[in-house]
Amino acid sequence: MSFRLKTIIGIALIELVLLAILVFSGLNWLRGSNEQQIELDGELLSSTFAIATRDAIISTDLANLNAFTQDAIANKNIVYINVKNDEGRLLAGASSLPDDKHTPNYDQRPSESEDDIYDIRTDVVIDEWKVGEIEFGLNVSSFNALLYNAQKYAVAIAALEIVLVALFSLAFGSLLTKQLLKLQIGAKRISEKGPGDTVPVKGNDEVAQVTRAFNDMSIALAHSYTEISHEKNRYKVLADQNMMLAEIVEQSHEAILVTNKEGKIQRVNHAFSKIFGYKEDGILNKRIMPFLFRQSMDTSPAHRISDAIETASITMVKAQCLNHENVAFWTEITVFPIKNYSGTVERLAFIVRDVTDNHEFETKLKEAVTRAESATKAKSEFLANMSHEIRTPMNGIIGMSDMLQETPLNREQQGFTDIINSSARDLLYLLNDILDFSKLEAQKLSLQEEYFCLRKVVEETMTMISIDATKKEIMLAIDIDPALKTEAYGDGSRLRQILNNLLVNAVKFTEHGYIKLIVTGSEDLAKNRVDYTFCIEDSGIGIPESKINDITTAFQQVDGTTSRRYEGTGLGLAITQRLLTLFNGALHIESKENHGSQFWFTIRLPLLGENRSTKFALDGKNIAIINADPLHRAIFNRYFAHWCANIQYLNNPESVSKGQTRYDVAIVLLSNNVSLPPSLTCPVIGVTPHIEDRTRHTDDAGITLISKPIRMHVLLREVLHALNQKPLPMLEPSSDSYRPKFPDKIKKMSIVVVDDISYNREVIRVYLSELEPNIQFLSNAQQAFEQYKHHPFDILLTDVSMPDRDGYELTQQLRRYEHEHQIPPASIVGLSAHAGRQDFNRAIEAGMDSYLTKPIVREDLTEALIKACRARQALLANNAQS
Ligand code: ADP
Repeated sequence: MSFRLKTIIGIALIELVLLAILVFSGLNWLRGSNEQQIELDGELLSSTFAIATRDAIISTDLANLNAFTQDAIANKNIVYINVKNDEGRLLAGASSLPDDKHTPNYDQRPSESEDDIYDIRTDVVIDEWKVGEIEFGLNVSSFNALLYNAQKYAVAIAALEIVLVALFSLAFGSLLTKQLLKLQIGAKRISEKGPGDTVPVKGNDEVAQVTRAFNDMSIALAHSYTEISHEKNRYKVLADQNMMLAEIVEQSHEAILVTNKEGKIQRVNHAFSKIFGYKEDGILNKRIMPFLFRQSMDTSPAHRISDAIETASITMVKAQCLNHENVAFWTEITVFPIKNYSGTVERLAFIVRDVTDNHEFETKLKEAVTRAESATKAKSEFLANMSHEIRTPMNGIIGMSDMLQETPLNREQQGFTDIINSSARDLLYLLNDILDFSKLEAQKLSLQEEYFCLRKVVEETMTMISIDATKKEIMLAIDIDPALKTEAYGDGSRLRQILNNLLVNAVKFTEHGYIKLIVTGSEDLAKNRVDYTFCIEDSGIGIPESKINDITTAFQQVDGTTSRRYEGTGLGLAITQRLLTLFNGALHIESKENHGSQFWFTIRLPLLGENRSTKFALDGKNIAIINADPLHRAIFNRYFAHWCANIQYLNNPESVSKGQTRYDVAIVLLSNNVSLPPSLTCPVIGVTPHIEDRTRHTDDAGITLISKPIRMHVLLREVLHALNQKPLPMLEPSSDSYRPKFPDKIKKMSIVVVDDISYNREVIRVYLSELEPNIQFLSNAQQAFEQYKHHPFDILLTDVSMPDRDGYELTQQLRRYEHEHQIPPASIVGLSAHAGRQDFNRAIEAGMDSYLTKPIVREDLTEALIKACRARQALLANNAQS
């Protein structure tokens, strides 16, 4: 039987019983209370009738009695009445009953009468003496009808209630079973598909709560179920991995051992038995060390392994092990701790690799490397010495040809000396290239760091190539971002070398058109650095695509034939590429045959303080630019915008005076078609393509001329000058137009020059001809020392490489002598063909004050002497004071 049916029947039964009790007791009470009332009424009537008829009965006054009975019967409640004497004889009677069928029953209660008549009989008594009796029947039909109706209604209500209760319990049961059914379906689904399924739930009654609890349980079960399946999967993966690792260990060609923390063997693989020759059974639970090294455990590798066991640390050693037959072989042993889940070391793993073959190979390789290194060193030394040896006569050749050029010569002789001079210089450049390349190859070249002006480096390098470029009528343009910070710190001379190599190539491989050097920068303020990008663009012959990647390889040229048109060694780009590597940069090439080339690179330098800006330098000025080519227009636009000037491009100088605009300055780019006008309404600056006009000068008409390539700072300086404005400090002339002059005081100083080679002494004699009366030329160190002992001189210029005693020793000897005799130290300048930083350091360590490299540059020599003179003067002045 279903729960619902049980509920319905149960509730209906309970209701039935309760209703039965209620109806029964209610009806009982109704009947009892009404019956009691009827009986009381009956008794009252009886006694009233007895009193009323007593006298008439005694006197047998029948008339009175009849009247009385007639009156009584008139009362509708009394259906019959009989008055009898004491003997039971009827004296008077009346009845409203239609017939005499009624049989009185005086023992019945009102509710027991079947014909709705309650029979009452009462004695008429006088002084306890019965004189008669009265019988009458009371009509109780209304009472019975009441009872009947009450019964009827009670049953009907009870029935209705039972029906309602049944319906309610049916609905309630359905509701209850509906939720339970859902739960049942949910449970069934879970059993079929696994947990996670939920039953829809509404409301908040107990069933809903049970359903929710059921749902929660299902979800919780689902989580546990997922975790268990993950766990199961993990376990499976772990088991697989375990098997795989075990297989790897077993199949490995390297001996693998696992020991406990004390270094007692717990497991070994097959390779161990194979390499060392021990059987697995015999070694388990024994200490590992004797099996690796046998008796020879007092070696450094063995100690390191013992330490690794003791400290449970990772170690890798190369060690000579002994197998069970005491045969030695080379191994590489790796020891590492194995930790358990909680991170504590429980075991140690040993991987032993037999590297005997490698060891032998390595030994041979090392020997080969050592041999190669010493060969490279010998080559480098040879090249360095060679370069020194070649530089010295070269110095002589250049110096002597310089000297020759300063003597009176006829045209032919002048031509010869020019060729000697330029060939010697070419040879020197080549030599420098070879030396640089061999140093870069041997990684012996490092970058120096110094403050330098990037603008100056760029402009000077461009100016250097301008002689050849002008001969070929190639237009040169320098395009430096006007806002760029150009004060830099790094190896300015190597940057100059890189730019020079690329620019020389650009001139060499361009027949007409232009060469442009573009410099841009990107500052990283947070990291305090600037990435400078240099791009050399030419409109030359270009490079075939297939060759672009090769040309940076040493000695590679696009045209490698002996009949080639362009000269060169193929070293320039190789050196450039390698130098850029030192700068952490790289050379990028973009080129198209017959369409020109672009070579560009980026170097990163530290960001120095604020550049003194030229922004607003020409604020609001009107500038006319005449005959500007498109190449320069782009640069002018950028620069004049930066300087905040208004510019107007005109085709000829005459247009300056014609228009409405009043120009403050006119800049004329001179060419075959455009020449300087005789006069203009404003100051004029002429830009000439001829190199001889390089330094600033004014011609007879008072017109300022500057030369190409246009250095924008020089142009600005001249514009400001033309405008009669104060010159900006950063626009002062660069050192190319600056040649130091000897101060008068130096002419009073005694100078000694020591060099074992006579033509070197001759070169210096020419360069220092101004000071000749004070200079003594000596050919060896001993002479110099003797001279010093007798007449201590002020300044010594000494070659460092001399036979017997070199310049370093001479310096040390002099310094010792000065110290012993308390003589104020002379200023010593070393002269050497060695240009390396270590040579310079060696000179300073020996006690020299400065150092010049050969071939000696006149300006450098003059400057070094001026410095030496100043230092000497200061020293003497100090000594005089104390
Ligand atoms: P070199 O110029 O002495 O031959 P480089 O290493 O400087 O040696 O250059 C290698 C080759 O690259 C050159 O021979 C030339 O073929 C090619 N090359 C270099 N620069 C340019 C350029 N600007 N335009 C065309 N070809 C170039």
